Amino acid sequence: MKTIGLLGGMSWESTVGYYQAINKGIKESLGGLHSAKIAMYSVDFDPIEKLQHNGDWEGTAKILCEAAVNVQLAGADFLLICTNTMHKVAPQIEKAINIPLLHVADATAEILAKKGIKTVGLLGTAFTMEQDFYKGRLEEKYGLTVLVPNENDRIIVHNVIYKELCLGNSLPASKTEYLRIIESLANQGAEAVILGCTEIGMLVAQSDTEITLLDTTYIHAEKAVEWAI
Ligand code: GLU
Repeated sequence: MKTIGLLGGMSWESTVGYYQAINKGIKESLGGLHSAKIAMYSVDFDPIEKLQHNGDWEGTAKILCEAAVNVQLAGADFLLICTNTMHKVAPQIEKAINIPLLHVADATAEILAKKGIKTVGLLGTAFTMEQDFYKGRLEEKYGLTVLVPNENDRIIVHNVIYKELCLGNSLPASKTEYLRIIESLANQGAEAVILGCTEIGMLVAQSDTEITLLDTTYIHAEKAVEWAI
């Protein structure tokens, strides 16, 4: 079994989901007392969030490249960045290490291809919903049509992530808003909706809606299990 490298803490609330999903996946595959071999570096999210919102992505890259090198030194065979947003600096991180990066958008696109989905809705931080490192990758590399909420709804989705979910708060009013936004994406033609932020699964679940949801935390974790064994 390979050792899975995790860059966690963004936020730590969602890294818990990765840790559980990866260990459950290894147990299901190998049985008995098997558990995942994991080398994790969990960062302090506060300075990273401030750099993000100030547009200082090179500042965030510096922190994450150093952490990624440490994960490699700890024996990881490959690396997962446990947040969709911070894939913004995936190219810098890939350059800093010699082990492969398991990109969350690639793992998600693979599932979409398996399901035959061509038009998909995307929820995440404003960075993820609006910029090319994620939405653009799905469109250009995989030929998908990616629908995002309108500007007002993007602000709602973004604020719920940073002001509630990353702090561990899952509020019923926000869930209602998210379900409304998911339905509106489906009404515009989305065949499924990507939960493209690792905390959204704390708020909405597949059992809340008939619309197919793709939770990137679990997709990413499942792919890591596959790579590990
Ligand atoms: N965990 C979130 C994501 O998947 C947002 C927090 C962050 O900015 O990294 O995008």
